[in-house]
Amino acid sequence: MSDVTLNPEVTEMILDAGGEDLRMCYQCGTCTGSCPWNMLSGLNPRGVIRKGQFGLEGFEGEELWKCVTCNTCMVRCPRQVDITGIMRSMRSILVEMDQYPKSLRTALNSLDQEGNPWLGLKSERPAWIQGMDVKTYTEGTEYLLFSCCTTAYDPRTQKIARDLVKIFQSVGLDFGILDHETTCCGDPAHNIGNPELFENLKDENEGVFSQYGVKKIITISPHCYKTFSDLYDMEGVEILHYTQVLADLIESGVLKPKGLDGTITYHDPCYLGRHSGEYEAPRKVVESLGMQFTEMERNRDRALCCGGGGGGAWRETKTGDRLAELRIEEAVGTGAKVVATACPFCMLMLEDGAKSLNKDEDIQIRDLAELVASSL
Ligand code: SF4
Ligand code: SF4
Repeated sequence: MSDVTLNPEVTEMILDAGGEDLRMCYQCGTCTGSCPWNMLSGLNPRGVIRKGQFGLEGFEGEELWKCVTCNTCMVRCPRQVDITGIMRSMRSILVEMDQYPKSLRTALNSLDQEGNPWLGLKSERPAWIQGMDVKTYTEGTEYLLFSCCTTAYDPRTQKIARDLVKIFQSVGLDFGILDHETTCCGDPAHNIGNPELFENLKDENEGVFSQYGVKKIITISPHCYKTFSDLYDMEGVEILHYTQVLADLIESGVLKPKGLDGTITYHDPCYLGRHSGEYEAPRKVVESLGMQFTEMERNRDRALCCGGGGGGAWRETKTGDRLAELRIEEAVGTGAKVVATACPFCMLMLEDGAKSLNKDEDIQIRDLAELVASSL
């Protein structure tokens, strides 16, 4: 065995940055065996953790940035180690030292300066709603509709937010927006590893929600849903994902999709499924469409990640080494002509995957909001 230098100071830095679970890992390797990167160029979370436990050089390598925080390893770890929490702590040390991939730096700089990771101007955040008669949230409005940065700035996914507005307006839901005041929920800052920036964004949003007396928030992105639910201090505020609202409206008979033809499969977004435990609401929405529904082999807590979480949406990857391409192959394998999802990151990643495989003619990627709106 070659000589290695143990560096307890590095281990202490990781523990101080929030990676306390380093101590719980007994190196069984289940995480490495379950990581979806095994089907591509590989990622060894057990090894990354080992390096952290001993303060060994090399934890700062490429592997650390490949983790898409999909939680596949965490739901299987026999010690319930917060593996992504350890990864985040390690990342935060490197972000602090300015030693991290350039594409992620661009996203964090944009977040810091404009409150979104997509290089959009802060003043342009409400532009997605142009031409639609949507009121500004005032105290007493039932729901705040929180558009995520992706649906606010990205031209493709703006349609998801606009279609959701059309659905809510069709059933007379009492909702408003505060896009002229709110900012990113902070998920990219949290997961790429800038806790200070995350806290600033969180404080800003919490201040706005409190000032307007917000009691119920409908999120479009599962990343905002998870972040508000688990990382914000908002006692008494109900956080919902839009699929839960649609499922309730359908179940109570208020919303009646007219039915669509064709075949469909459903891709579970990691932050709605594994992270938040919501598997049924989106399936109720799928079933309401009346299409022929086939599950992919890997579904619910075994679903394959699209590769967009944990900064993955900004990481540069090569064709042949993309989780989204694997997922598209699996979706096409069901025979379905539509793969539905409920997350703007999944939408972008899966569309890119289908294009890079030249399968965009074989299968369409549609958000559930788009499908419901087209069935009204
Ligand atoms: S599965 Fe859990 S205990 Fe096993 S190596 Fe991974 S983190 Fe450690
Ligand atoms: S969270 Fe996902 S990508 Fe990251 S190490 Fe675990 S299984 Fe692999």
